[in-house]
This record gives sequence, structure tokens and C-alpha cells, in this order.
Amino acid sequence: MQAPMILPALEHLTPHDLVTYYRCPYEMELHHSRHAVGGSPARGPLTPVDVVPVHRSPLFDPPTMRARAIEGRLDLAPTDTLVYVDEGERDLPMLFPPERVRLDPALRAHGANLSDPELGFSGRPDLIVRRSDGSVFPVEYKSTHLFVGYHEAHGRVFDVLQAIAECRLTHQALGVKPTHGIVLYGDVAGSGAREGWVEVPYGDAEERWLKVALAQIRADRVRPPAPSERHCSGCEPNAEGLCRYAAARPDRPAPNRATLLTAVGGA
Ligand code: SF4
Repeated sequence: MQAPMILPALEHLTPHDLVTYYRCPYEMELHHSRHAVGGSPARGPLTPVDVVPVHRSPLFDPPTMRARAIEGRLDLAPTDTLVYVDEGERDLPMLFPPERVRLDPALRAHGANLSDPELGFSGRPDLIVRRSDGSVFPVEYKSTHLFVGYHEAHGRVFDVLQAIAECRLTHQALGVKPTHGIVLYGDVAGSGAREGWVEVPYGDAEERWLKVALAQIRADRVRPPAPSERHCSGCEPNAEGLCRYAAARPDRPAPNRATLLTAVGGA
């Protein structure tokens, strides 16, 4: 057994962590063991060497019943303005002409990230839109198409939990609670022919889910592997030769495996 690892009082988490943990807790743990996240430095993995893999992540599903998938161009009004853009993201769609881009300095209070000190949580939506009535909503952009292979390639649950997380961060930054978040599919491969978007409501149930999910991840001191062909084939640590539980070969060739194993403490 490995020596127990002492975590900071409130381990910093991000929307990316939620998505990764939902896919495979060990994938998230390998990521945290190699990268400083928020104020938390990189550290050795928590997962014991004699861990027993699980069939699926223990994270329970977010509320998805009210999410709506809509085909076509995103429904923007002429009075809508763009108040935030993740400048680290290239290839975001040009949804607004320059005169309707009015970046809000409140969304830069913590640099590029939106931060939630109460939940120890930070991250970046791709865009935030403000309507003429003062309401706001975050947009997560995915340059894929919506309906062909939608469930297989992405999974509505991944999109829902990411949108919920971004609604919370938007609320914390602006003091205005979004009623929903948007996941926008650009269909780059199909030249926009199959564009679509998902509207994810954000209410008390969704916020409650987020708080419990973050607590659940922090309380998990095992973070077991949940191997599946679908997830393992696209898993970044697997591509780097870091996971011995993988159910599928990586899409990409592994780099120098010995060096990387040393970096994660021999996992
Ligand atoms: S290769 Fe599979 S089991 Fe290993 S960390 Fe990645 S998703 Fe998890």
C-alpha cells in the first residue's frame, strides 16, 4: 500500500475535473498528479497501487431531464452582447460583430479564469452572453456536429455537467444567476450543415448537484480506474503510457514512458 497522501484543506477543482472524474476518476487523479491545479501544487497520485478497477465512475448523474437539444443556428437576439471570451481558445465562432462585443471587467477580476472561492472551483466558459434584460448565460463551444453520433461521441451528460459548472462560475463572477447554459456545436467537419445547441437549465437542483459532486470528488481517496474502450482510447494519460488499467490502446503513440512514470511516482 502507498503511504496516505495529505490533501490541501479544499482541493482545487475545475469543470474539466468534473468531466474527467465522471469519465474515469483515475484519469483525473493522474492529471492532478502531474499538473498544478489552481493553488494546489502537483503531487503524487492518491490511488493505491492495489486498487480494484470499477465498472463506472461513482459520480452520480446531474439532472438532465430538462436539457433541450435544438437543431440549427444559436438563437441570438440583435440586442445580445458578448461580455466574456476565453482568449486562450482559438477557433471560437464569430457570433458577434465588433460593436456588440462589450467585455465586462468583472469577468477579469481573477485573470482569465472565473473563480468561485466558496467552492474552491475555477474555470473558463468559452463565451458569456448578456441579454438586454440583464440576464446572462455561458456558452461552451464544441467544433463538432450535434445529431450524427452525438450521444456516442460526446454524451449529453458530459455537456450537462460542464454547462452547470459554467453557470455557477458566471453567477459568482457577476452576481447574476443564469437560468441556463448553452453547449454549442459548430459542426466544423460538416461546414455548419448540422449545427445545433443544447440548452441546460440551471436552477436549485443543478446547483445542489454541483456542490455535492465537488464534495464527493474531494472525499474520494481512491479515485479508481474505470476502464472502457471508448474512454481509454482517447485518454491522455493512456496516450502517455501512464495507465496500466487501460481497456484499449491509445489513439496516439506513447512518448518516453520511463520519464513519465517517474513523474507520477511509478503509477
Ligand atoms: S486509460 Fe482508461 S482506466 Fe486508465 S486512466 Fe485513462 S480512462 Fe482511466
